[in-house]
Amino acid sequence: MAQLSDDCFAFGGPMMPVDEAVGIIASRLTAVAEKETVGLMDADGRVLAIDIAAPLPLPPFMNSAVDGYAVPASDLRRDASSAVPVEGRVQAGAAAPAVRPGHAVRIFTGAPMPAGTDTVFMQEDVRIDETDRVVLPPGLKAGANVRPAGEDIPLGHVALRAGRRLRPQDIAVAAAFGLTTLEVIRRLRVGVFSTGDELAAPGTARKEAQLFDSNRFMLMAMLRRLACEVGDLGILRDEPSALAKALKAAAGRYDLILTTGGVSTGEEDHVRTAVESVGSLVLWRMAIKPGRPVAMGVIDGTPLIGLPGNPVASFVTFVHVVRPAVMALSGATPAPMLPIPVRAAFAYNKKLERREYVRASLRRAEDGTLEAVKFPREGAGLLSSLVDTDGLVELGESIVRVEPGDQVGFLGYADLL
Ligand code: AMP
Ligand code: MG
Repeated sequence: MAQLSDDCFAFGGPMMPVDEAVGIIASRLTAVAEKETVGLMDADGRVLAIDIAAPLPLPPFMNSAVDGYAVPASDLRRDASSAVPVEGRVQAGAAAPAVRPGHAVRIFTGAPMPAGTDTVFMQEDVRIDETDRVVLPPGLKAGANVRPAGEDIPLGHVALRAGRRLRPQDIAVAAAFGLTTLEVIRRLRVGVFSTGDELAAPGTARKEAQLFDSNRFMLMAMLRRLACEVGDLGILRDEPSALAKALKAAAGRYDLILTTGGVSTGEEDHVRTAVESVGSLVLWRMAIKPGRPVAMGVIDGTPLIGLPGNPVASFVTFVHVVRPAVMALSGATPAPMLPIPVRAAFAYNKKLERREYVRASLRRAEDGTLEAVKFPREGAGLLSSLVDTDGLVELGESIVRVEPGDQVGFLGYADLL
């Protein structure tokens, strides 16, 4: 099981900067250690558990990069064409024939270089004369159009390191090494609760003053993208003792408990008190908008993150708090999010010392520059603002005002999930 030390952080006073909060969260989480072996087809998105060193060089043998004629470098002429007889033919997958000095071998892309040859003339650069000899132009460099063994990855090179979240191209490397399986960290088990008397589960009857619970499904989908095994724990009512009981019961059964709603300061926000009654609170408020109330606690050694209820706040704090926590728990090497510079096509006022995220769409301006267009409304409850935009403009703590034309950093949703 994942463990979290429960010596409590002093969380009174001002709201905590995002980086500090994330640092505290990451430093207190210990990665799960259990590994499992998965087939390559099931490895995408999983965290590699061991270093993978090249068991063979890539490419494994010297081969031609083009269709053409292979020759030894000693036959190359610097200032005049030469005509040489063609002897033998080698295509991809075939064994290379022996070649006599003063001869060229017809060769195709990917075919092994015949012993003694080390340079290939592209077929577009030569012609065949009336005696069937190939006319080689002068000036080609020795070793041209050849892919030496190991030029991509040398034998023994650690091509994939433990902690890597595997992507399709990483799986390609494993396959190129001839591997059929990979050792990965086991999936993280995350239990997800929604909280609120106003929530009805989709598929059940909705009372007049209720809305269907959307956050739980968003969060579970986001967790799935992070390769987690998700436990759907349903909706908890705004009732302190029932909340505390449910959280306590989930502790120990999951590596992480995630809740949404009930973490503000309102009289009906009971998650924080519930955590304090059955465990301990590590931190609570963060200087992030949308977001702000985010509770981090620990119950019987199981970490808990309580996200706000407003859907956009829930989304943004998932990305900036839960994601790094999931990474830390699953042993993944931290990968900082690097916003890409774009031009703001909006004006915006913000509070000093608070990190703010503005929902925006990208468009290409007439001068070719990428521009971020702000979603016209700001409510943290507007699901449409997430659906109809491409990502988040990140405004750092020191910024107080954005003018149209300013350079800002943009994080696309595709990179955030
Ligand atoms: P809370 O953080 O509990 O005060 O909730 C803030 C707002 O988010 C309220 O308007 C809630 O109705 C809404 N909300 C809370 N939880 C959810 C949820 N699971 N799905 C959709 N909206 C929610
Ligand atoms: Mg609530």
